[in-house]
Amino acid sequence: MSEKIDIQTVDFLGSFKKLSQCPAKMMPEYAFIGRSNVGKSSVINHILNRKQIAHVSSTPGKTQSLNYYEINQRWRIVDLPGYGYARVSKKERKKWEGMIASYLRHREFLVCAFLLIDFSISPQRIDLEQAEWLAENQVPFHLLFTKSDKIKPAKREAQLKIFVETFLETWSSMPTYFVTSASKHEGRDAILQNISRINTSFYKQ
Ligand code: GDP
Repeated sequence: MSEKIDIQTVDFLGSFKKLSQCPAKMMPEYAFIGRSNVGKSSVINHILNRKQIAHVSSTPGKTQSLNYYEINQRWRIVDLPGYGYARVSKKERKKWEGMIASYLRHREFLVCAFLLIDFSISPQRIDLEQAEWLAENQVPFHLLFTKSDKIKPAKREAQLKIFVETFLETWSSMPTYFVTSASKHEGRDAILQNISRINTSFYKQ
């Protein structure tokens, strides 16, 4: 049985630029990763039920650090810088890739990454490549579709089918996914239940 998650406390632990600076106390961590503007800050605020804990629409490409939130002093969300922002220099991009890759590959408390994908547009190559990178590097992850409200309810199933079919061109099965809308407050319970299940097994070990 998984516990029901009430968000009692959310503490911002800080922004870290290196893996070696990340909090040392053992706790399950959930990384949120996605293209700039995918709706990452909004979905984190939505999940945590806080209006402005994650900064919505901070200049894309400027927040080059790992932002740490601790929930109920029991688990953490790590907000990773958005990728795919055209205006950052090659050098900046390399630095980004280095930091993110190092975090995702080596952080021992990372139990699951949520790869955010904009549900309201067609599947993007860069997101598919990111999913492949996670799999190749053995990072457990789920897909988290954002902005579902931008697709009319009658068309959502067809849109989901497009994503599933695109994934199945290269994947043997569809990764676990969640469809969310921060604007309409949808999808939160399923994500929290999933986190709760993983937390339970983490603390049992
Ligand atoms: P981030 O750059 O990935 O952190 O994205 P933000 O959370 O700052 O959101 C980027 C833009 O998308 C903002 O204009 C948000 O208002 C908008 N947005 C985010 N989530 C949703 C959503 O669920 N529905 C709609 N319609 N817009 C959203």
